[in-house]
Amino acid sequence: MYHRRHVKLSPMPKELKELEPLINKCVLCGGCHPDCPTYTLSRYEHDAARGKVLLAQALLKGELPPSPELAQKFDHCLTCMACTQACPAGADPAKVIVAARNEVRKGIGGGFIRNFIFAKILPNRLAMPFLAAAMKIGSRLFSILPWLPGMGKFTVGGDKKILPEFFTTSLKSEYPQVVPAAGKRLMRVAYFTGCMADWVFQKSGRGVIGILSSAGADVLLVKDEVCCGAPAYFSGDMVNAGLMAEKNLKAFMAMEVDYIVTSCATCGSVLKEIYPELLGGADAQKFSAKIIDFQKLLVDRLMPKIPAPTGAEPKIKVTYHDPCHLSRGMKVVAEPHRLLQKLPGVEYVEMADANACCGGAGTFSASFYADSLEIGKRKAQNIMASGAQIVVTECPSCQMQLMDLMARYAPGVKVLHTAELLAKVLTGR
Ligand code: SF4
Ligand code: SF4
Repeated sequence: MYHRRHVKLSPMPKELKELEPLINKCVLCGGCHPDCPTYTLSRYEHDAARGKVLLAQALLKGELPPSPELAQKFDHCLTCMACTQACPAGADPAKVIVAARNEVRKGIGGGFIRNFIFAKILPNRLAMPFLAAAMKIGSRLFSILPWLPGMGKFTVGGDKKILPEFFTTSLKSEYPQVVPAAGKRLMRVAYFTGCMADWVFQKSGRGVIGILSSAGADVLLVKDEVCCGAPAYFSGDMVNAGLMAEKNLKAFMAMEVDYIVTSCATCGSVLKEIYPELLGGADAQKFSAKIIDFQKLLVDRLMPKIPAPTGAEPKIKVTYHDPCHLSRGMKVVAEPHRLLQKLPGVEYVEMADANACCGGAGTFSASFYADSLEIGKRKAQNIMASGAQIVVTECPSCQMQLMDLMARYAPGVKVLHTAELLAKVLTGR
């Protein structure tokens, strides 16, 4: 059981031991191999879900001790959930892998990221401006200096990784606590911006707020919001993920709203799917039931507010990349495609394998940059083959990866968040 400082809810932790029934479901069929990006890349069994499930079993039985080498084996996974989707036996390998990361880190220690960033910075909203400033300075130095200690792996084929711009004032600080609906109010929503829309991709956050309010929603911004906890959770740090979950639950459940809207696939899937597991209890279930993806909310409830195409407007060719945590995590699959098909001024073209992982996966691309690019190459080829001028998606981690991929392979193709595209075609901004 996890030790938590504040949680008073009935916990439903997912220690590896508790996932033994899932591990035992694996019938070793290999059905998870064809869709696994890391296995497709290396062809090593330990890079496939089946191999990792067997490693988790050995760890659990004490046949393999926790070690940095074993940690690296479990870390070399995008948590894309393609294996979980493909598994005919219901073994949910992606969940087993995250729990195995936790088990190994309990044995070898968490290091600086876990003990400082996850424990002290991300759960503390007052610390975020300092992290953003450090990221801003770090990314500037990385782009202008020929070499920085520890950053050599982010130069591949002579080109450096493309980094987004970091801001030192938050998006939320630009707005009042409630942005009122323009015209007749249809609903009241809270917007969970997530760290990336708040500090990095602020244009997409402005797009979400503007579109929701012009479509008839009062939009509440919650100043006590902290990181959703995804970086900690996917690194197997359930204690700090639970701490962040608890803080957000408290902050958002104090609001009387119809929905809590997310515009980041990873935040959304963690808030909706993982918080009930981390926290348990009726409040976490109620919170989860209110979480809705921005694109889904538009299509399900606010579509009549989006002007229909007249057929006369000049068209831009747009394709869509399905973020894994949105399509496999939140199960939002059809809505984004339907939304783009109905937008005035947009010719929607479907790329091949739109739901294949882009290779970004947050910390994966930081730890295994060259592999992340290699996995993303197929995505870049599919985008180019679609003939699109713009690729849109709804995940900041995918956005960063696609920006990097397009800079390398297709410099003419723009990468936008769905909300940015909507703002562009509907309001010209
Ligand atoms: S989550 Fe994705 S990368 Fe990891 S084992 Fe499963 S299919 Fe492979
Ligand atoms: S994890 Fe599922 S798909 Fe993969 S080998 Fe085991 S039973 Fe088969």
